[in-house]
Amino acid sequence: MSLRFNAINNLANGAETKVDASPKITGIFGSNVFSLKTAREFLSDEAYKSLQSSIKASQKIDRAMANQIANGIRAWAESRGVSHFTHWFQPLTGTTAEKHDSFFTLKGDGTPIEQFEGDALVQQEPDASSFPSGGLRATFEARGYTAWDPSSPPFIMEIGNGKTLCIPTIFVSYTGESLDYKAPLLKALDSLNKAAVDVCNYFDKNVTRVTPTLGWEQEYFVIDESLFNARPDLVMTGRTVYGHSSAKNQQLEDHYFGSIPERVYAYMRDFETESYKLGIPLRTRHNEVAPAQFECAPIFEEVSVAVDHNSLLMDVMERVARRHNLRVLLHEKPFAGINGSGKHNNWSMATDTGVNLLAPGKTPKTNLMFLAFFVNTIKAVHDYSDILRASIASAPNDHRLGANEAPPAIISVFIGDYLTKVLKAIKERVTEKMDETDESMLKIDIHRSIPELLMDNTDRNRTSPFAFTGNKFEFRAVGSSANCANAMTALNTIMAQTLKQFKKDVDALIEKGEKKEIAIMHTIREYIVASEKVLFEGDGYSEAWAKEAEKRGLPNVKTTPLALDAMVTEKAKGLFESNHVYNHSELEARHEIELEKYIKKVQIESRIMGELATSHVLPAAIRYQNLLANNIRGLKEAGLKDDSYANQKQILEKISEHISKTSDLVEKMIEARKICNNMSDTRTKAIAYQSQVKDSFFDDIRYHVDKLELLVDDREWYLPKYREMLFLR
Ligand code: ADP
Ligand code: MG
Repeated sequence: MSLRFNAINNLANGAETKVDASPKITGIFGSNVFSLKTAREFLSDEAYKSLQSSIKASQKIDRAMANQIANGIRAWAESRGVSHFTHWFQPLTGTTAEKHDSFFTLKGDGTPIEQFEGDALVQQEPDASSFPSGGLRATFEARGYTAWDPSSPPFIMEIGNGKTLCIPTIFVSYTGESLDYKAPLLKALDSLNKAAVDVCNYFDKNVTRVTPTLGWEQEYFVIDESLFNARPDLVMTGRTVYGHSSAKNQQLEDHYFGSIPERVYAYMRDFETESYKLGIPLRTRHNEVAPAQFECAPIFEEVSVAVDHNSLLMDVMERVARRHNLRVLLHEKPFAGINGSGKHNNWSMATDTGVNLLAPGKTPKTNLMFLAFFVNTIKAVHDYSDILRASIASAPNDHRLGANEAPPAIISVFIGDYLTKVLKAIKERVTEKMDETDESMLKIDIHRSIPELLMDNTDRNRTSPFAFTGNKFEFRAVGSSANCANAMTALNTIMAQTLKQFKKDVDALIEKGEKKEIAIMHTIREYIVASEKVLFEGDGYSEAWAKEAEKRGLPNVKTTPLALDAMVTEKAKGLFESNHVYNHSELEARHEIELEKYIKKVQIESRIMGELATSHVLPAAIRYQNLLANNIRGLKEAGLKDDSYANQKQILEKISEHISKTSDLVEKMIEARKICNNMSDTRTKAIAYQSQVKDSFFDDIRYHVDKLELLVDDREWYLPKYREMLFLR
């Protein structure tokens, strides 16, 4: 029996996975995390203080202290039944990586002991050769090592093979270039902190630190594991390269409002419990628009922690799914014809005085501070939209951004009716000769309209890639499988850069003798005028917007290889270097890595399409073709008239046509691939893969295969169908 029918049978037998009654969240929250509170228990005063100042003030920990801290962490981990540790990091492959070692070791005289030295905590060499480095390691003949990042707490992962102590680290080459997502992110956050504190100090001298905040919303699909295993395309690429849409899709939108299916509900509760233990503050869960699609979101946290937590969550979701004989699909577009998955990045900035810088203030002064940060964000997105676009570019995300669905590839900003009016008023009423008699202008009363503002924003425009939603911006174009770090590094860097310029511009006016508030107001007005073309309140999916955006000169780059160009322009190099985020060679390396990832993904998809067509689809179609041919021959021999087998003949003709087209196109696609593979320049090759392989063949081959799926006898079809993957529970 084929895997497909086996899977369907198994489903019917219904293996139910039991989950313990939901424990009280506060009872387990953070129990697998070596938080400062735990550190207090397991460390000496001295070691605790050292760790604390390292976390709070980025101070270095000396070797003796590192030994003490390592011992404390091991004591804690052993008290929780842990015997192995790993340096946990986020390499550019997009998943998380670990290399496990045990505490166990032999002393010089052969005595077995358990030990975890400061050295093992602070630094390690994973086998770096297998992680992408974009030529960096070759150029510098450098190996990579992982270095402890004390700002992110150690944790215990207890799903799968026992319990493991994970030490969050950054991954760098011996010459100091970063090879992961985390190191540049930390640098970008640092740059933003400095630039934002300077601007805050115009309004409040007490602000000494600004921490960007992130609350991500993770969308995902869940399907049965046996059905998943019967789809080699899902196994190899995370998406279905074939599959006719089912009779019922998401037209009825019944999924969005419906209750969560029992099996998925058990899975959710289970991964939530594991997440709580790891300190991930998950808060909401619900169905999404597409069948079998769901979403979860946490309470927002500071960006660096939120990024770690999202990576960790994706890992936990995959591990826990297997306990339930389910598979989670984090791919941006697992199924054609229904919604894809994104990861909205809700972003803001908070001061150490407790102010959310993107929340409208309650007094004229705080309102002006809000306006400054609000308008600077718009200006940043306007000036560097190409960099933002590049930060979310990936082969799977092209299925969303380049296609006719959530959000378009044009980066624009939605701010809602009310703030549109506010900006318009500033633009019109703040004039060159504005003086102190016009100070009423500074008292723009925004806060009274907050309820209206929220109503206005939350549900109205879901088509914008970058939307203001009351007290934060929501970057919606991030892909569901992406590491948020990439988008966050870009966003925080462009914001830092814009704020630095803002400070210069305001200071220049003050030096000319302007009063501070007036200098700020003038600069805000100037920024509004300079960036208003990036503002758009309408339907982002519409053809009209694409035309309008073109008129405004906003870029609309639909494919990854071209979107990535923005990473290596002079503008990008200047931006990232002056903010100490990436140097030139790091940018070049990352550009190369992203192009290579793109090529590999399209190449694998193309191979699996070819293989499935030849080994699954065509054999099934040919068997059915034979059946029909025999049937017609038999009827003919029995002396029946032509019209008694006219229908069979018609079907046979159609099938034969789709068979020959499929096989023909697959051959041609293989030829096209060969040409691409001979190209030596990575960018040229990536563009060729996109235009000569993906765009030239994928949809065409799929068209014929999906037609065959409809025509061929169901019993002959070995690939689980959309209706089975999406609707069977
Ligand atoms: P929705 O977008 O569904 O209306 P919310 O607006 O309440 O829901 O929040 C969506 C996400 O935005 C949540 O993850 C939430 O934690 C996050 N969020 C709320 N405020 C902030 C903030 N100041 N900074 C970053 N993220 C935030
Ligand atoms: Mg939202």
